[in-house]
Amino acid sequence: MATDSGADLLIPQDLLPGDGRFGCGPSKVPATAVARLAEAAPLLLGTSHRQPPVKQLVGRLRSGISQLFSLPEGYEVALGNGGASLFWDLATLCLIERRSQHLVFGEFSSKFAQIVQNAPHLAPPEVIESEPGTCPQPHSDEDLDAYCLTHNETSTGVQGEVRRIGSPGQLVLVDGTSAAGGLPLDAGSVDAYYFSPQKCFASDGGLWVALLSPAAIERSDRLGSTSRWIPSSLDLNLALQNSRQDQTYNTPAVATLFLFAQQVEWILDQGGLSWAAARCRQSASIVYGWADRADYATPFVQDPNRRSQVVATIDLSPEVPAGAVSKVLRRNGIVDIDGYRKLGRNQLRIGLFPAVEPEDAARLTRAIDWVAERIGVADHA
Ligand SMILES: *Cc1c(COP(=O)(O)O)cnc(C)c1O
Repeated sequence: MATDSGADLLIPQDLLPGDGRFGCGPSKVPATAVARLAEAAPLLLGTSHRQPPVKQLVGRLRSGISQLFSLPEGYEVALGNGGASLFWDLATLCLIERRSQHLVFGEFSSKFAQIVQNAPHLAPPEVIESEPGTCPQPHSDEDLDAYCLTHNETSTGVQGEVRRIGSPGQLVLVDGTSAAGGLPLDAGSVDAYYFSPQKCFASDGGLWVALLSPAAIERSDRLGSTSRWIPSSLDLNLALQNSRQDQTYNTPAVATLFLFAQQVEWILDQGGLSWAAARCRQSASIVYGWADRADYATPFVQDPNRRSQVVATIDLSPEVPAGAVSKVLRRNGIVDIDGYRKLGRNQLRIGLFPAVEPEDAARLTRAIDWVAERIGVADHA
């Protein structure tokens, strides 16, 4: 059996990446950031989030994010507990007024559409869906007040298009969870760009961040002051008021904030968002280039322009079972490159966020080749 044949395969050292974490979230947290956290710990961890050390950290994070995304005048950075999934619930209450449009092309985009479909206070949304591996096109419609896009569909490795749609009174809400910090963005073309720190920002999960336009702030302010009931933990106004004071509504994970700020500042030091995007593009071109050449591997996404630069999905031919490959890799310290379970393909999914060294992406492809050759041979025997 192929799944057993790899049990004792030891990948040669010179093929192994320096760091074996290629998950799409949680993702690689650089050792240097963890060491800095250990240094900062005595004056930071276990101290009050209402006192200067943690407030300064939140302030550093907010200003670093503004700088990273070159936020236009009037845009603000809000944050709170709960991750991008919580932001879907929050947006359903605080940003969508009556009816939204959703581009659905994978697990994450479909989850948000589902939440809105179930919301009793909203009209049924317009859902435009396309096959996994592709991306649907939005269209403007006067009857809508929000367009919901996904910058990078993490489940399929498809990069969506982010641009303004509709008229000024209509909001563009973008799930940038796995894209933020790794893909170029014109923040002025969207009203809410939200994400979590466990993808391109090399931190832990549990937090959401949103870049908000004046129109989004105005909308949330207005909906909050009407008769609509908004629970406090889902209240964007409350979150924004706290963020403006460099705080969160309730207690945050301080270590997560610290690692997040480290990564934002590291990217800024290296050259900012364009630098990070170029680095991801380089890793992606290594991985897709390999998949194009290898006779047993093919990029899942047909249209090269839609292939994600931060999450590469690679189909393997049937004689090389992806599950068996990933099992051997895991025993050799290379982890989390399994395909998205619900997609149900013989596929590897590789996180290529800015923390990943492009050289490690190259080594990963060689390690996969090495394993595939041996598993394939065992399978034919
Ligand atoms: C990971 C992810 C989410 C969910 O993020 P959580 O922090 O786990 O809530 C949502 N959308 C996209 C595109 C993602 O990649």
